[in-house]
This record gives sequence, structure tokens and C-alpha cells, in this order.
Amino acid sequence: MSAHINAIGKDALIVVTGAGGFIGGSLVRYFHDKGFTRIRAVDKKPLPDWYQRTPEVECLCLDLSIEENCRRACEGAVEVYNLAADMGGMGFIERFRVECLRSILINTHMLESAYRAGAERYFFSSSACVYNTELQKLPGDRALKESDAYPAMAERGYGWEKLLSEMFCQEYWAERGLKTFIARFHNVYGPHGTWDGGREKAPAAICRKVIEAKDTGKNTIDIWGDGTQTRSFMYIDDCLKGIDMIMHCEQLVATPINLGSCELVSINRLVDLVEEIAGVKLQRRYQLDAPKGVGGRNSDNTMIRRILNWEPSTPLREGLAKTYAWIEEQYFARKAGKRVLL
Ligand code: NAD
Repeated sequence: MSAHINAIGKDALIVVTGAGGFIGGSLVRYFHDKGFTRIRAVDKKPLPDWYQRTPEVECLCLDLSIEENCRRACEGAVEVYNLAADMGGMGFIERFRVECLRSILINTHMLESAYRAGAERYFFSSSACVYNTELQKLPGDRALKESDAYPAMAERGYGWEKLLSEMFCQEYWAERGLKTFIARFHNVYGPHGTWDGGREKAPAAICRKVIEAKDTGKNTIDIWGDGTQTRSFMYIDDCLKGIDMIMHCEQLVATPINLGSCELVSINRLVDLVEEIAGVKLQRRYQLDAPKGVGGRNSDNTMIRRILNWEPSTPLREGLAKTYAWIEEQYFARKAGKRVLL
């Protein structure tokens, strides 16, 4: 049976890392809105660059690849949510494997520091990139279930780092009794995410390109690959609820679980949806040598349905409409010379 964060006192100290980024920033707001009074948000970015700043939250600017900073971040923590990672969309993780691999420092030091601080629970944001790439060659390939991570053939760099960090989480439970929880996120999107600059992911990039084309009247859109690659995309609100439920489910201690939508679409279909929202039809130019990732990837939600009796269910059309509206606002604010965060 699943529990909820409401099981701990409202004054318990919750630590969220990566809080200057998309999911971490949204998670801080989620806990604040639930009435938690002691939240510590940590990120290495300077404070003015954080995507979201929630009032009354302690904000620390610390580089968590350094052990003593992790000790400081975890002091007095009851629950630790570790979402800090050097990452981005395919364009980033295919080009910057060293940066991705170096996130192992964050995960190593954060686990040890949470353990030493006597934290009750530790959450790790893993990724669908841990799955064996051999199973994802073709568009529409079968959905990935949790056991498909082994035999291991993860995404080079980013995926292997996540897989090893998952193992650290499992061994901290097995050998030292720290309750760890591991969610494998599948493509998260929504307002307050990266939307330009090289780290953005497909939904945000396509929204921005359509907005740009509409604004400039240029009538074309560049698409990475041939558009037949298939993916599923999870709306941020589902991701936050899922993190909360997974972290408070005793059955899931040290057990990796998919957290993703199973609404499978091709990239071409994603473009159709954004065009419908925008009310335009653009000519597509396929960039066949651009980074495009695996051929097909979807989330098998059998396990999450069975254990939590729940799964992410925001329809893509609905989440995209909200995301499009938010990116459009940012786009025109930037055009008007205002400072926006990317
Ligand atoms: P994001 O890039 O918006 O946020 C990550 C944050 O971590 C950034 O603000 C960054 O400054 C911070 N960070 C990086 N290195 C740091 C360091 N050394 N010390 C302190 N902070 C540091 O990314 P996101 O989309 O919010 O992702 C959050 C987590 O979820 C990451 O672990 C990511 O790998 C995982 N994930 C995300 C997705 C997705 O679709 N967004 C999919 C799978 C997994």
C-alpha cells in the first residue's frame, strides 16, 4: 500500500537538491504548498539563475560534487531528494559524456552525507536511459519494464552513471540500512523547464521552434532525425505526485521503478500536436545527422499500477498546451528585452 509525505511532521526538514532546476524547483513548491515549513533547497547555480524560488524556503548555493558541501546540505535532514545532475536533452547527453559521468560525485557524496546525517529516507532520480539500448533500436519497440536494465547496456555516459548510482542506493540499504527510493523518470516536461540554449528536451524545443516560426512567419521547422522515433512524455505534476508516492511506499525500498507516461507518440506526432495548439502547419525539414537518441522508448507501467494503484495520466495534449503557453510567454518576454531563465 502507498503512503504519502503527510506521514511525517510538517516541521521535518526536507532537503531538495537540483532545486534551481526544473523538477527540483517544482518539487520544492509542491512541498511548500503542502504546508511543510522547513525546506532546504540546494543547487550550484547562483540564486538569480534558479528557475523557481519559493518564498520562505532556505536556499543554498553549493556545488554538491564536493563532499563537505553535501555534509552541509544534509545537516539535520529527515528526507533527502537528490535531483542534482549535470544533464540535458539528447543534444547534451550525446556530446558531454564526461560531465554526465561526473554526476557520480554528487550521488556518492550525497548518499554518504544523508546516511551520516541520519536521514530517514533518500530519493534518487534515475532515468529511462539506464535501460539496455539493444531493446530500443526500433520505433515502437516494446515498453521497458524494470528488469530490462540488465544485462546492462545503458546509454553511454549518462545512463551508466545513473545505473551505478542506483546500485549505490541499493547497497546503502542492504549494508547500512538507509531507506533509499529510486524512480526511473521517462522524459519529463512542463512549465519552468529548460526551453532554449542546448539543454532543452524535445517537447520544449518543438514548442519554441513552432512559436519562433509563427512569430517570424518563416513557415519551416527543423526536426532532429526522421521524426519516426517514438517516446512517451510525462507532465511535471504527475512526476511530483509520483516522487511523493514512491518515496513513502515501504514496498519500494531500494527497488527501481518506472515513473513515466505510457502514451507513446512519434516525434512527428508530437510536432502535429504542437502545431494544432499553435494553429499553424509548418513544412518539416528532417536533420538526419542531428542527435536523435534511441529508436523507440516507452514506459511499462505494470509495476507502478500494481504497487501504487496509480500511474501518470495527464494527456499529452493537455500538458503540452500548458507548456506551450508558458514558453510563448517566455519567448515574448525575451523578445521585449526582459531577463528570462533558460
Ligand atoms: P535540470 O538540469 O533542470 O536540474 C538539475 C539541476 O542540478 C540544475 O539546476 C543544476 O544546476 C544542478 N546541478 C548540477 N550539478 C550540480 C552540482 N554539482 N551541485 C549542485 N547542483 C548541481 O534537470 P531536471 O530536468 O530538473 O532533472 C532533475 C533530475 O531528474 C536529474 O537527476 C535528471 O538526471 C533526472 N531526470 C530528468 C529527466 C527529464 O526528463 N527532465 C528524465 C530522466 C531523469
